[in-house]
Amino acid sequence: MADMSLSYPSLVQKTYFIRTFGCQMNLHDAERVSGLLDSCGCLEASSPEEADIVIFMTCCVREAADQRLYGQCSSMKSLPDAPSGRRVIAIGGCIAQRDGERLLDTLDNVDVVFGTSAITHLAELLNATFAEGGRHVLTSENPDDVATSLPWHRATGYHAWVPIMTGCNNFCSYCIVPYVRGRERSRLFEEIVDEVEGLSRTGVREVTLLGQNVNSYGRDRYGNPRFAELLRAVGETGIERIRFTSSHPKDLLPETIDALAEVPQVMPHLHLAVQSGSTRILKLMNRRYTREYYLDLVKRVRERIPHIALTTDIIVGFPGETEEDFAQTLSLAEEARFSQAFTFIYSRRAGTPAAEIPDDTPREVIQERFDRLVKVIEGTAYEYNQHELGTRVPVLVEGVSKKDSHRLQGKSPMNQTVHAPVPEGLDSASLIGKIVDVDIDVARTWYLSGTVVGDPR
Ligand code: SAM
Ligand code: SF4
Repeated sequence: MADMSLSYPSLVQKTYFIRTFGCQMNLHDAERVSGLLDSCGCLEASSPEEADIVIFMTCCVREAADQRLYGQCSSMKSLPDAPSGRRVIAIGGCIAQRDGERLLDTLDNVDVVFGTSAITHLAELLNATFAEGGRHVLTSENPDDVATSLPWHRATGYHAWVPIMTGCNNFCSYCIVPYVRGRERSRLFEEIVDEVEGLSRTGVREVTLLGQNVNSYGRDRYGNPRFAELLRAVGETGIERIRFTSSHPKDLLPETIDALAEVPQVMPHLHLAVQSGSTRILKLMNRRYTREYYLDLVKRVRERIPHIALTTDIIVGFPGETEEDFAQTLSLAEEARFSQAFTFIYSRRAGTPAAEIPDDTPREVIQERFDRLVKVIEGTAYEYNQHELGTRVPVLVEGVSKKDSHRLQGKSPMNQTVHAPVPEGLDSASLIGKIVDVDIDVARTWYLSGTVVGDPR
C-alpha cells in the first residue's frame, strides 16, 4: 500500500471512525475511504468517542436514511473531546453528492462534505481542515477520479466487494440514484479480472461483483454488454464463490443465464428486483418490463438452475397503487416463490418523476398492504429453506451468531444464513473464512441450522 503520510502530515496518527448507511456500493466506498486513511497514517477507532475524524457514508434512496444522518450528526456534539483535541466530522456518499454545500447550513458541526466521485480527494480535504481550519466541500463529478484505484481496507479477509461499474442509466421513476451517482461507467474488463485474481491469491474466497445494473456491464465501454463473458472470466481466476448484485430483469440475457448455470463458481442465487407485480405500476415506474415478462424470465432461469435462490426488491405504495395493483404484487410473489425479499414502503424523493404523481392513499392502507406482503414472503422463504433439510451444505463461515458465541454463522451457496455449534476442540476465530460442511436438521424462515461434519477447508 502506498505511504501517503508525507503528503498529509496533519493526518498522521489521527484516529478515525466510519459509519455507513445504505447499499453495498456504500460499504465498498467506505472500505476505500478506510484504505486511503490507513495509507495516510491514520488509525481506525472502534467508536466515534475515540475518533478524531468521524465519517458518515450516507444514503438518500429513502427518506428514513436521510433523517438518520441528521440525528447522528447532532449526537456528535455531546461526545467527550476527541483524543487529539479536535474532532472533524465529514459527510460522504449520496446525500453529500446531492446536497453539497447546503449541508453546511443545516449541519453546523460538519467540517467536510465529499461527493461520491470525490473520495480520492478526501485526504486533502481533511488535511486542510486540520492544518488551516475552515469547512471544505467537494462534490464536482470528475469521471477520472475513480475510487477503485485507491488502496483498500477490507472489512473481512475472506470476502471482497468488487465494483464493476458505477452509476445507472435506467431512471426508474421513483429512484434518485441516477441523479446522484451519474451515468453508467464500466471498469475495464481486464482490470476487474486481474483484481479478482489478485484477491484470490491473497486468500479471498468470495467476491460480490457490484453495480446498479450488472447485466449492462460493458455496454458504455465496449458497445455491447459483456457481463456473461465477465462471469466466465472471473470464474477462471481461482476465486471459489462469485456473487453479483443488482440485476435488472429487462437486461438479463440468455447468455448470462447460461453462465449462471455453467460456471461452478457462480453461486446459485439471483437477486432480480421486481418492484411491483402490476404491469400498470411497472409502466409508471419506468421499469420497461411486464408482469408476464418477469414471470417468464423466472421460469427460464429455473429451467436452467432448478434450485436457484431467487430474491427481490418490492416497493409497496407507489403513488396511485390500487388494491387491484397490490393484489397483482401479492400473486406475483406467490408465483415467483422468492427465497427472500427486501420490501420497502415507497418514499417520495424530490426531483424524481414519481414525486410529481399525486396520491391520497392513506398511510394505514399502505402499511397494511406491506404487512400482507411480508407474510407471503415469509411463507415462500420458509418453504424454500425446507429443501435443505437432511442435506449437507458447504458453509462459508462469517463469524459467530450474535445471540450465542458458541454457534458459528455463515452462508450457504444459496445465500441462506446457517448456524451450527462450534465443533469440539476448534476455536471459532480460526474458522472464520473457512468452508465447513453442515448437515442441516432445522430449517426456519430466515435460517438453517445443523452440525459441522468433516474438516474445515
Ligand atoms: N439498481 C438496483 C435495482 O434496480 O435492482 C436497486 C438499487 S436501489 C439502491 C435498492 C432498492 O431500493 C430498489 O430496488 C428499490 O426497491 C428501492 N428503492 C429505490 N428508490 C426507492 C424509493 N423512492 N422508495 C422506496 N424504495 C426505493
Ligand atoms: Fe434506481 Fe432503477 Fe437504476 Fe436501480 S435500475 S438504481 S432502481 S434507477
